[in-house]
Amino acid sequence: MIPGARIVILGRQGAGKGTQCVRLSRHYVVPHISTGDMLRGAVREGTDLGRTAKEIMDSGGLVGDEVMIGIVDERLQRADARTRGYILDGFPRTVVQANALDEVAGDKPLDIVIDLFVAREVVIRRISARRVCRDCGTNYTATGTERYPWICEVCGGDVMQRDDDTPEAVNRRLDLYEEQTAPLIDYYEGQGRLIVVDGVGDPEDPIVDRLGH
Ligand code: ADP
Repeated sequence: MIPGARIVILGRQGAGKGTQCVRLSRHYVVPHISTGDMLRGAVREGTDLGRTAKEIMDSGGLVGDEVMIGIVDERLQRADARTRGYILDGFPRTVVQANALDEVAGDKPLDIVIDLFVAREVVIRRISARRVCRDCGTNYTATGTERYPWICEVCGGDVMQRDDDTPEAVNRRLDLYEEQTAPLIDYYEGQGRLIVVDGVGDPEDPIVDRLGH
């Protein structure tokens, strides 16, 4: 039986967390819980949460801690996360959220926290080329040489740039990352759970090998 795991992944916007999370979640057979995806789902469905979050997200701000803690707490209570574990992507993003996660996790603490490290200049370049299919969520990196850059190769849907990938919103998100999220690196290092992984290099290079678990 494959052991589960409770993992948090940190890293700047555009560091490649989404791609690595898909691999980690397959390897450990745990759900990939992305708060960004959950919020975008709520926006698409037009729920109260979605309406509140949309404006904040488009401007590159952070949704309030209390709201985020409530959503994640509820998700972690579901059977898959309770029994096998999870990989959390996009949460915690502030020290308040990290404290709340420690409390929610209780006697099942995190196994590891991965810091997928990529320098700011590099992620700015990556994000400006980032595209996503609106229908199936496939991610693309624009090269400028595609024949049909705005049509999804997987499902034929519309390929677009995320609403919050404008240069202003990206810079705001990166500033907030340094202010609010980077302190979590020390927080988890202090708990002895942090593993730093270089996010520049071959994305095919399996992250699980680099973790040595
Ligand atoms: P990125 O890491 O590129 O900013 P995400 O998909 O992780 O994108 O999140 C998109 C947006 O959703 C964030 O910019 C923020 O507005 C909101 N969000 C996601 N997770 C959180 C969180 N834990 N706390 C506050 N806001 C969040």
